[in-house]
Amino acid sequence: MAIIGGGATGAGIAVDAAARGLQVVLLEQNDFGKGTSSRSTKLVHGGVRYLQQGNIPLVMEALKERGLLLQNAPHLVHNLEFVVPNYLWWEAPFYGIGLKMYDFLAGSHGFGPSKILSHDEVLKRIPMLEPEGLRGGVIYHDGQFDDSRLLINLLQTAEEQGAAVLNYARVIKLTKSSSGAVDGLVFRDEESDGEQAIAARCVINATGAFCDAVRRMDEAAAMPMIAPSQGVHLVLPREFLSGDSAIMVPHTPDGRVMFAVPWHDHVVVGTTDTPVAAATLEPRAQEREIDFILGTAGQYMARRPARSDILSVFAGIRPLVKAGSRASTAALSRDHTIQISASGLITTAGGKWTTYRKMAEDTVNRALERMTWPQRPCPTGDLPIHGCSLPVEEPGPLAHYGSDAGLINDLIRERPALGTPLHKSLPICGAQIVWAVRHEMARTLDDVLARRTRALFLNARAAMAMAPAVAELMAAELGRDENWRKKQIATFGEIAAGFLPE
Ligand SMILES: Cc1cc2nc3c(=O)[nH]c(=O)nc-3n(C[C@H](O)[C@H](O)[C@H](O)COP(=O)(O)OP(=O)(O)OC[C@H]3O[C@@H](n4cnc5c(N)ncnc54)[C@H](O)[C@@H]3O)c2cc1C
Repeated sequence: MAIIGGGATGAGIAVDAAARGLQVVLLEQNDFGKGTSSRSTKLVHGGVRYLQQGNIPLVMEALKERGLLLQNAPHLVHNLEFVVPNYLWWEAPFYGIGLKMYDFLAGSHGFGPSKILSHDEVLKRIPMLEPEGLRGGVIYHDGQFDDSRLLINLLQTAEEQGAAVLNYARVIKLTKSSSGAVDGLVFRDEESDGEQAIAARCVINATGAFCDAVRRMDEAAAMPMIAPSQGVHLVLPREFLSGDSAIMVPHTPDGRVMFAVPWHDHVVVGTTDTPVAAATLEPRAQEREIDFILGTAGQYMARRPARSDILSVFAGIRPLVKAGSRASTAALSRDHTIQISASGLITTAGGKWTTYRKMAEDTVNRALERMTWPQRPCPTGDLPIHGCSLPVEEPGPLAHYGSDAGLINDLIRERPALGTPLHKSLPICGAQIVWAVRHEMARTLDDVLARRTRALFLNARAAMAMAPAVAELMAAELGRDENWRKKQIATFGEIAAGFLPE
């Protein structure tokens, strides 16, 4: 089986198929997670908004997956309290009943009961909240995670199950047999520029918002199935949300859901939902999206965040599958779609990070059926994800590496200089860079600063300042020269500029 796309969807399918004993290769055109899968709101959730839309089966499925993720990757997924502040009289009963329903649907996978809070209890949990007009609130529980770290750990799990995973391998062509069935692909090695062919009895298109381009490699006239929509998040200093709880605003002035979530000792605020013409690898936030988030967040925080408070801005493209001709992308289904073309190309798109495992299970079931291969039971429901350790072994800045944290600490014991933080604003040290190159398939400065560590997402200026020291450590590990270092720093500078508001 050849899987095109190294995001949540492709990685999940690689784990599942390899664990069921298939021979698997996964190809990613850039770095793993360069697409949408590093740019989410970082929630492992049933989706309170889908409950509002009455989509009960979707919520139940996601709540079950939320529980399985906490069980299989406890080093990366955390139970988090969300406060829905109420400023209108009807909000407490309305959201209170809705969130009790959310608890009920989670069944044995519940994260904790929701409850109604008084004015003072809300302020105790979120001291920075605007007190003027506040009536009280409702508290509920959901999950939170680090998306690109989970992705890397999933790819490591896939490798441990026998899959081969390649980054910087862009698929440029699908090959077909004399009967017209897809029987392999050709990819370009983006580092050497060489091309290589791979034979595969089953090819899966897991390229998210890019999937229509791959579908056109199969059928030139394939009608687009994706309506790309951009979501933007701002990252602010932690003091804008000084308690341990997140804020969830179910209905912004223009009808969206807004989250303010503590993440790696910062606050992520978002998101928007703006239709865009096409998916790109480095989508940029529009000025009006930044203004909208600043304005809305300002209504819920005691100090209004200003542009100068923004540490980083990131945009991601939702791979929403088109549903008829509804005008607003906010109304489209987040459920996943599996499409099989006449020549046998299997495209899996839509869904969300939380449900990646179920998407993978459904896709591999369909592939086995289609190929008339023997059905084998899906083993991923209780398959631990690389790094899984309970209790979390080494609390502190390396806790999210789970069982790998001890090995990174060994590197520091061997070379104590690797334990020094590379910037005063972020607890990221040289050992993490060396680890990323040696064990996490990092090839470029962007891979390390954006997705192996989250420096670029947390604080773009700090990431730029760290770049020369990181390039030096990487060059030593990869055996690269001065020229490589200079080019990497320049390229990263261009990418990082897109993470800063103008
Ligand atoms: C703003 C935003 C917030 C979100 N928040 C959440 C959240 O909090 N919780 C949640 O559960 N979900 C969330 N989601 C949804 C979730 O992030 C996505 O559903 C998921 O990441 C999609 O993964 P994917 O693998 O399908 O796509 P991607 O991550 O985009 O992966 C597709 C990959 O295919 C690669 N590719 C494309 N063409 C080729 C080619 N020719 N050859 C090789 N590789 C190729 C791309 O480079 C890309 O890396 C959010 C989405 C957005 C946009």
